[in-house]
Amino acid sequence: MSNAAALVLESPRNMNLRHFVIPEIGSDDAILKVEACGLCGTDYEQWLGHLGDWGGGMPIVPGHEIMGYIDRIGPGAAKRWGVREGDRVAVEPIVPCGHCADCVVGAYTRCQSDVGYGLYHGTKVAPSLWGGYATHVYLHPRTMVHRLPQDIPTDVMSLVNPLSNAIRWVYEVGGAALGKTVIIAGPGQRGLLAAFAARRAGAARVIVTGTSADKARLDLALQLGATDVLETGSDLVARVTELTNGELADVVLDVSSGAMQPIVEGVDLVKRGGRIVLAGLKGNQPLNGLPIDKVVLREIQLLGVLSAGWQSTELAIELIKQDGPKLAPLCTHSFSLNDGTAAVRTLGRELSDGREAIHITLTPE
Ligand SMILES: [Zn+2]
Ligand SMILES: [Zn+2]
Repeated sequence: MSNAAALVLESPRNMNLRHFVIPEIGSDDAILKVEACGLCGTDYEQWLGHLGDWGGGMPIVPGHEIMGYIDRIGPGAAKRWGVREGDRVAVEPIVPCGHCADCVVGAYTRCQSDVGYGLYHGTKVAPSLWGGYATHVYLHPRTMVHRLPQDIPTDVMSLVNPLSNAIRWVYEVGGAALGKTVIIAGPGQRGLLAAFAARRAGAARVIVTGTSADKARLDLALQLGATDVLETGSDLVARVTELTNGELADVVLDVSSGAMQPIVEGVDLVKRGGRIVLAGLKGNQPLNGLPIDKVVLREIQLLGVLSAGWQSTELAIELIKQDGPKLAPLCTHSFSLNDGTAAVRTLGRELSDGREAIHITLTPE
């Protein structure tokens, strides 16, 4: 039996390379040979130890944005998933139970199965290989895998997870479509991808907002299809009113982390019946100052979203097939497993090589 190498987060800010036996599989499960694992803000929160009770605690192999090649697969899994050894796949982070009230209506982002990758099972749960910071990942029988095209470069293909989130938040939930006006608060990886997705969905006007420190990212937003970029500040509402001839936005997507202003301001930025989609976590802080009467009187919808789903993942794969090269400038950093700590610290802006870090991947080599 051969071994897998995996980075284990043993305690906050302490991650080490360890080796595990790659398990035998049965009919219904599989082993993935990791090609790359993307990182997002959640990885940094996890590394700091801020996720608290969520998931598997420590020690754990992090990494929930996983893609790779089917290394070994049982006949039952091959049949159900429609893949065979050698196929390139993306793995959804959540492993739904398939039976709860949310799963049976397809809303498995709300499933409480507590099974999944990178965040859910520590190394004490056999066979330990539950995260993408590794050479191999164990694929549970209820895993959802998506077949990927073979010919797209690793870094661009690994945008499938963040792009699937962006598509669900701005398009499926937000309703960005032909002729709509969309405002995206926060030009991080997901905000930039949401700008791209909203334009591809037909939105007529896509406005991305950020701070004066976000200049490079706002420029990138314009390259990806945003029609306007605005620096946040006291006159944001006036500027949006002017840009939209007083019509305001159909949807405001908040993907900023920690900031409350985009939500409070969002109430004045959406039209009657508009949607404010909330995707940025706020460190457990409650929000004061939300003008509830305006929300009621103008019938504004506040919608929380977490993660992606089957359809948005398939749409993400399709958009990458069609437009991958356009997304390449987002792929700023790639690290090997040996430099995993540097990858997470670069993500958290603790380390910098002078270049803006947007999409970061870890690869086994
Ligand atoms: Zn993530
Ligand atoms: Zn369920």
